[in-house]
Amino acid sequence: MASFIQKGHLEFLSENQKAKLSKHFMTASITLMPHELAVLLGIEYPHALAVLAELEAEGVCEMKLLIYHNCEPEVPAGAIPFGIGFPDLPWICPHCEQSVENEDELSFDFIAYFNQAIEFV
Ligand SMILES: [Zn+2]
Repeated sequence: MASFIQKGHLEFLSENQKAKLSKHFMTASITLMPHELAVLLGIEYPHALAVLAELEAEGVCEMKLLIYHNCEPEVPAGAIPFGIGFPDLPWICPHCEQSVENEDELSFDFIAYFNQAIEFV
């Protein structure tokens, strides 16, 4: 079961890029991070983030803000829904259990969870 993206949406993507995106969802995971999408489509990170935000607006995925603490920079320490902003400080890191007072200790990325495959029509 796929959800279909109608004509008139995501028009800033080329037909080729839409085809790549459709193919990705047939064969690969249902999560996408902006840097993965950027590589997949050959676009820049901010553009990829805009595509994911647009897909969320279409209701086909749910975006989360991933929170990384510099105690373990490769492993997300938390995730909050996209659009509510950044976590309130102080924020307790579940990895090291320290109270983070300074946003400089944190870094952020995004992940989109797709509830189903999408296909452009
Ligand atoms: Zn930590």
